[in-house]
Parts: sequence; structure tokens; C-alpha cells
Amino acid sequence: MQLPQALLNSLESVNGFNKEAFIKVHESGEQVISIRVNSYKSSIVNGEWSIVRQIPNFPLPNSKILWTDFGLSLNTRPSFTFDPLFHAGCYYVQEASSMFLEQALKQTVDLSQPLRTLDLCAAPGGKSTHLLSLISNESLLVSNEVIRSRANVLTDNIVKWGCSNVIVTNNDPRDFQRLENYFDVIVVDAPCSGSGLLRRDPEAIEEWSEQNVALCSQRQQRILADVLPALKNGGVLIYSTCSYSKEEDEKICEWLSDELKIKNEKLKIDLEWNIIETDGGYRFWPDKVKGEGFFIACFRKTGGNDEEIYTPRIKPEKFSAKEMEILNKNVNTEGLAFLRHEEIIYTVPEKLLADVNFLSSKLRIVNCGTRIGEIIKDKLIPDHALALSNIISDKIPRLELDHEQAIQYLKKKELRSQTDKKGWTLVTYQGHPLGWINILPNRINNYYPKELRILKD
Ligand code: SAM
Repeated sequence: MQLPQALLNSLESVNGFNKEAFIKVHESGEQVISIRVNSYKSSIVNGEWSIVRQIPNFPLPNSKILWTDFGLSLNTRPSFTFDPLFHAGCYYVQEASSMFLEQALKQTVDLSQPLRTLDLCAAPGGKSTHLLSLISNESLLVSNEVIRSRANVLTDNIVKWGCSNVIVTNNDPRDFQRLENYFDVIVVDAPCSGSGLLRRDPEAIEEWSEQNVALCSQRQQRILADVLPALKNGGVLIYSTCSYSKEEDEKICEWLSDELKIKNEKLKIDLEWNIIETDGGYRFWPDKVKGEGFFIACFRKTGGNDEEIYTPRIKPEKFSAKEMEILNKNVNTEGLAFLRHEEIIYTVPEKLLADVNFLSSKLRIVNCGTRIGEIIKDKLIPDHALALSNIISDKIPRLELDHEQAIQYLKKKELRSQTDKKGWTLVTYQGHPLGWINILPNRINNYYPKELRILKD
């Protein structure tokens, strides 16, 4: 692997850069693999993940990632595709350094409070699913992605996580100017030149150039300037990249402090983490941490105006007694509000209804809370999102599948099973829902979404 000389030269003056060790770790070809556990679907107790021994051929995690309660590193890469619990949303495959977002939040924000949070550049959903594990149920996450096709992938990953206190939007950063002083927290995990991931993706070396670094830096400034009005006075901005270039990291911090007048916040870093503080932020060097290259910095908005444009406007939805009876059979409805859009029923926590209504008049919403499905002739045609949600009722009939059947199901192939159940049934693997089937007298219809099916053999 031949790292670009211009990149190496540009890093000479950066805190913590050790040229020899940096080159060596890139040449080693070492693969660092890590996952982040979905705390709504399983847990880590005394360093052991509650479900790991139930997953065939899954390597026992060799260590916990130090800066998060949910991260585990693995010695070898299992086949995630052929693990049904991956599809059930029990964990997310994520690079370890990025999980430091947890410290940035825990150290700057009171997470026990109801918060309005925005993940501005959210696809494919690593930071957003992590945010959902950190914020309270009374907090809202707006998970935004400007590129439409990527917003769909983002929705798929959010759905797997199972939370209802989240909306997925597809807006340009400047659209958030309509939401002045609205958010308590904004995360900008900016599009960047990507040098932090060159070890993983050596082919990207060809695409790296100083010109692209300069372009990314300008774009990052534009994105930040566009979204900053949406942050409340006293609110926190978390900025991160997977680039090593100062122009996208420390220089952006300097610009944020000087031009946008927001206050840089310091974090406490444990010595054993081996994370390096630089001018305004924190660097993760792959020769020092068990992770890829990453940069993160925190800022607090002070001195802005306090006026909120937000005016609660609750549009009550009409659901008949019969419809409520059907919803109650399928959903743990306590504390939830239901909405209907083009015949499809969605749910969000009741306390977030006013916010969701307000945001729907300002943003292009791709997905709102949990999609429940459609009631036709007094029957619920359940949506895939309900199957994977954390609010599904345990009264719903379930059919447990073995590994082979689960893979057949996830390939959307024909499913055979001896069962006396009939009608809409939730299929599970190791007790975790994978999706829906409809059991008819002579066959079983597989309702796994076509676009999610496993294509590999
Ligand atoms: N936060 C994501 C995660 O943890 O999974 C990764 C985000 S990735 C580093 C940056 C995202 O910014 C990409 O999804 C990309 O499509 C989006 N993006 C690209 N150009 C953008 C722009 N001009 N404004 C906002 N977002 C943009």
C-alpha cells in the first residue's frame, strides 16, 4: 500500500502523528472488526453479550470497546449476511472509533432530559442507531440524509433498530434554516475525503487528492453554516469526519469558533483510550487505537437569540373503537399516538406528536416513527417495521424458525413448516422477530420485503 506522499507530508505537524507507525499499520492489512449491540434487543452483562453463544459460528468478542457501553471488537469477521440476528437488528456492524460519539454526547448533554436531536448526514445509520440507544424515549431523533437512495438504506437500518421516537427525513442542510433554535443537539458526521478509511479500502487511495480535500473542506463549511441556525442557544454541535486532513478537521474547528462564534467544548479522555487531543478536537490514529482514522469535536452555541419559532400544533387523528381494538391487539399502545398517511398507520410517542406534526410541515419525511400497517376490512395488514419494532405486542402469534428455515425466509423463498397456526404470524429466530408470514390452508406466504432479501448463496 502506497499512501499518498502529499497526505503524509500534510500530517507532519499534526499532534500524535507517527509517520513510521502510521505507514506500518496501513501496510499490515490488519482488519479491525467491531459491532455495536442493540440494547433494546439484547444486552452486555459483565462484558459478555447475552446472545453471542446462540449465534452459530459467531466469534466470541475479544474485548469491549473502551469508550462505549455497547461496542465489542471481534477477532475474525463472521458472515453477517448469514446471521439472522443481524437482520433482526440485534446489532450494527460499525467501526470502533466512530462509537466515541457516545462520550461526546454523555459529556456535553444531559441525556436523561427530553431532547430534540438531529443527525444531519445520517446514512447508512451508524450514528443514528447509536443515538437511539443513548437518548430517552421522550427524546426525538431527526435522522436526515440528503441523497434519496441513501435515505432508503438509512430507513431500513432505523427500522431494524425498532424505535418509534425517530423520523427519517430527506432534506438539504439549508432546509433546516426553517427550524431556527429548534434542536438541542446536532450531529454533523460530514461527507469527507475519507483518508481515515484507507486501511480498509486501499483502492480509495487513487481517489485521494489535495483538491478533493479542499472541496470537502468548503462543503463542510457550507453544511455547518446552513444548519447552525437550527441549533438552540446552549445547544451542542458534534462535528466529525473520517479524514486525517487538518483542512477538514482542526481548520474547520478554528473556523467554527472564529466565524460562527460557537464555543469549543473539551472532553475528558482516559489515558488508556490513546485518543489524541489536537487543536479543537480529538484524533483517532489507527496505530494508537483499535479502530480506523476518525476526528470528532464538540461545540456549544452561546449568545444566539433565544426565540423559538416552534409552535405546537396537534392534529388529533380519528381512529374508530374497532380500529383501536385492532391496534391494541398488535401494539403495546401505552404512551403512543397514531397517525394515518395515505391509509398507512404510523405511531410515535404521544409526547412527540406535536413535534412530529410541526416537522412534517417543514421537512420531507421519508419515515415517521414506526409504520404499523393498514387496516382493511377490520384486519391489520401488518408492516415489516412493526415486526422489528420494540412496541410489538407479545400477543401476536409467533413461529420460531431454525437457522436453515430462517435463511430460507430471509431469502424470501418458500417456507414449509408443520404448524396449526393460521393467518398473519411473526417468524422469529432465537426469539427475535424477523418479519411476517401469512399462513393459508395450503401454503405459507412469505412477506419478507423483496428489497431486503439475501441474494447471496
Ligand atoms: N453518519 C453516517 C453513519 O454513521 O452511518 C455516515 C455519514 S457519511 C460520513 C456522510 C453522509 O453525508 C453521506 O450519507 C452522504 O450522502 C451525505 N452527504 C453528501 N453530501 C452532502 C451534503 N452536501 N450535505 C449533507 N450531507 C451530505
